[in-house]
Amino acid sequence: MKPRAPRRPPAFPAGAGTASAPGAAARPAAPLRPQRLLDSAARDAARLTAPTGLGLDSDAVRLRMVERLRLEGIACEPVFEVMAQVPRHLFVDTALAGQAYEDTSLPIGLGQTISKPSVVARMLELLFQGANARRQQHLGQVLEIGTGCGYQAALLARLGRRVVSVERLTGLFERAQSNLTAWRQDRVRLVHGDGMLGHPPLAPYDSIIAAAGGAEIPNAWLEQLAIGGRLVAPTQGSSVGQVLVVVDRHSDGWSRIHHESVHFVPLKSGVT
Ligand code: SAH
Repeated sequence: MKPRAPRRPPAFPAGAGTASAPGAAARPAAPLRPQRLLDSAARDAARLTAPTGLGLDSDAVRLRMVERLRLEGIACEPVFEVMAQVPRHLFVDTALAGQAYEDTSLPIGLGQTISKPSVVARMLELLFQGANARRQQHLGQVLEIGTGCGYQAALLARLGRRVVSVERLTGLFERAQSNLTAWRQDRVRLVHGDGMLGHPPLAPYDSIIAAAGGAEIPNAWLEQLAIGGRLVAPTQGSSVGQVLVVVDRHSDGWSRIHHESVHFVPLKSGVT
């Protein structure tokens, strides 16, 4: 007959959580501590940053967007500065806020879109090159055609002396009014009207920028552009479709340069 193997102590002795030598009496379990000591909890709380909703209002998200624009070849510090400040996600529907810092255009209602950040940055950069040419650190008196949700107007308000922004659709005009309440409204004059006519009462403009593209640049814009001023607008090129067009006004006329292809919503006449 084989001798019986000695009995081994159980791997996890019964005394909950306390290792006990075989045969030793089990010690009582340490009391549960569902709450932490007040002072250590307070210390940790002080180390944590305040909750920021979806995290989208953190500067870091916008700074990453700016870094991507820099890598894409945009090189205009004043534009980076304002794009790092203005919370794009507050200008789009809450459901789209998660995409607000991606380089994409987003619907803003009534069949319109907010332009993608890289295109906004590029157009502002082109406008700034005009301002540099007239040795100004800002865009001066600005006319924007196509307010949409008001995001670009909020950027322009920080880059120019004054911004006049025209929108033809009542729904978006009202939406921009409410979006812009917090954003230097005093520097932005929102106009519900047909931007193809410009806005003669406050002309001339040092900078004109359009967020909708037509077959041609309306004469009203050319006439309302100040001498030394610059206009940037998407316009139908000869064979390549819509392109960014830059027009500079000189004392003896206008010069015009075509840049890269773009795809903007159409410039329409009339007000609804
Ligand atoms: N810059 C805007 C982009 C808006 S999209 C933003 O940041 O959201 C272009 C806008 O141009 C649309 O709202 C459209 O209604 C408007 N638009 C088109 N034709 C216009 C016109 N003739 N006058 C004024 N706005 C016009």
